[in-house]
Formats: sequence, C-alpha cells, structure tokens
Amino acid sequence: MQTLTSGRVISRQAGAVLASAVLLAVTATAALAKPHVAIVATGGTIAGAQTSPQGPGYTAGAFNIETLIAGVPQLKDIADISGEQLVKIGSQDMNDAVWLKLAKRVNELLAGKDVDAVVITHGTDTMEETSYFLDLVVNSDKPVVLVGSMRPATAISADGPGNLYDAVTVAADPDAKGRGVLVVLNDQVFAARDVYKTNTTQVDTFKALDRGPIGRVEEGSAELFEVPTGKHTTASGFSVAGTDTLPKVDIVYAYANMGRELIDAAVKAGAKGIVVAGVGNGNMTAEALQALTDARKQGVVVVRSTRLPSGAVTRNAEVNDDELGFVAAEELKPGKARVLLKLALMKTSDPMQIQQMFRDY
Ligand code: ASP
Repeated sequence: MQTLTSGRVISRQAGAVLASAVLLAVTATAALAKPHVAIVATGGTIAGAQTSPQGPGYTAGAFNIETLIAGVPQLKDIADISGEQLVKIGSQDMNDAVWLKLAKRVNELLAGKDVDAVVITHGTDTMEETSYFLDLVVNSDKPVVLVGSMRPATAISADGPGNLYDAVTVAADPDAKGRGVLVVLNDQVFAARDVYKTNTTQVDTFKALDRGPIGRVEEGSAELFEVPTGKHTTASGFSVAGTDTLPKVDIVYAYANMGRELIDAAVKAGAKGIVVAGVGNGNMTAEALQALTDARKQGVVVVRSTRLPSGAVTRNAEVNDDELGFVAAEELKPGKARVLLKLALMKTSDPMQIQQMFRDY
C-alpha cells in the first residue's frame, strides 16, 4: 500500500517533470520560430545602380530582389525571408495596372497561413500614393510595410540596406498588426494615410506634417506609439478583387491667374473625377471655379484639396460646396485624395456620399 502510494507519488512527480519538459520544448520552439516576411519588390532607387560612382545619374530598379536580400544578411536573424520581383520600375511610372497587380499579390500572400507579413520595396516618388491605395484595399490585419531609399544601392552611404532591415524589423513585430499599411524610412514609421515625400533628395524626406510619425526604429527594435485613425485594411469598404481598371481621376494645380483650359481638357479626356490642388484652403480663380462648376454639371466629381503641405481643406469655407456639389478633401493632399476618389467612384458618384468617405478614411 505504502509502495503503491509512493509509486503513485513518484509517477505523479515524473508526470509533472515530463509536462514541464514538454512545455519548455514547446516554448523554446516557439521562441526559435521566426515570422515569415515575404518581400515583394517593385524597383525604385532602393534597387538603383549608378552609371558611374562619380556621376550623379542612376537607374532605378536595376537590381533584383535576390541581390537586395543578399546585401543584408542580418535579415535572416529576424525573420524567414522570401523575395519576389513583381515589376522593376521607377515609381514615377507607377500606374493602375501595377497597383491592381500588387494589391492582388499582397492579398494572396497575406491569406496564406505561412506568411506573417509583407514588405514592399518601392520607389519613393509615389510611395505616398501606393501605400494609401494598399491601405484601402488590403484585406488583412497582418503587417504590410513599404520601404525605399533616397540613395541608389551603389552609393557611398546607401540608405537602402538599413531601411530594408528596419522595414523587416517592423513587419516582424507583432505590435505592427492591425495598424494598417506602414511606410518605414530613415528610422521612422508612418501610417500610409498620413505620409508624404517632402524633399527631392534628402534622406529625411518622408513626413506626416498633420499627424507625425506613428513609431520609430531604434537599435534594431521597433516602437509603435500611435494607432492610425481612418478606416483601413480589414475595416475598409473598398475592394479591387476582380477589377482590372480604375476610374480616371486627374489632378489640376491651382495658381495665380489660373485659366480654365486644363480643367476643360481633363473633362474632354474622360476624367470621372477631378482633384484640384487649390491655393490655401482649396481655392482657385473665378475662371477655374466656373470650369469646375461646368464639369460638375456634366457629372464629374470635384474634390477640393490644397497645394499646401499641411492642414485640412474645410467644407463651405470660401467655396460653397453645398451649392456647387463639390467635395472637400479634409486632410488628404492631392495624390492621396486622387486615390480615395478613384476607389470611391467605383461605388458611387454622389458627392455627399463621397464627402462622408473623405471623413471616414
Ligand atoms: N524616382 C525614384 C522612384 O521613385 C526615386 C526613389 O525611389 O527614391 O522610383
């Protein structure tokens, strides 16, 4: 009886030891299991090659993704990395077809159980547009991070490798989940909705003047301190699944003595929407205003944004939006206002419904 009792005690102890050993092994495996970050490459200066080390010229998108990944061997310490080349372009050549292809591929990758996050290498010129487009049409809360560089890969003190390392660090961080599409450059993390390129050549070009960055990368780790506002990703009502074209939307830039010719030309060329990069709080000359009023009468949706780098365009300030049937862009500057208007026009051409979208997204 005694033996039996002590035998039971012994076997219970042995069971407990075994259970903790299993637990330890599981924990150790979990700690060793790195997230799988899929990198999708589109070109840009981050993949750029100089024509000569002395000269100023370079070609964007010259190197392929394998070369970029091989250039930062430390990536494999933070994640299991896969890479694929979607296109090889300077982002000045970004277009609707590539956006749709990219959105489709990112959604496919994120739907897979084996992919934890996606990083997209991209030129900086139109990164503010692509990132916002994806923010509105990616249907996953897994991290999506766009990254680029201001100096080509062959430059002395190229900023691409460090930026790529930081982008993968952010993408691999579970805290990045649910924050929408992010942009990482120069040690800073931005929400896609808020970020703009502000300088032609300097490495600290990306800014979010209205809201600030939402995080930073320091000494190899990410700190995300803000939650972006505006509907995005899984909360977005937009989808481009099964779509192969997007509505045509043009931007016209306002200036002193602006005439009506460019607005009329956009309407004639088939624009379904026009974003005006207005002076001040979305204003324009009386002649341009008349052209936009005429465009509206033909069913074109008019969105008033601003050529200024910060601030919101407010409804019915100096232009009577209610009377003219216009939309005020709120905080979205022309490039991003154009992205939202393109997606909005896939659903409706009612200006009041579109105005609500400019408030919500
Ligand atoms: N023109 C380049 C691009 O947008 C500039 C860059 O990547 O920094 O592709």
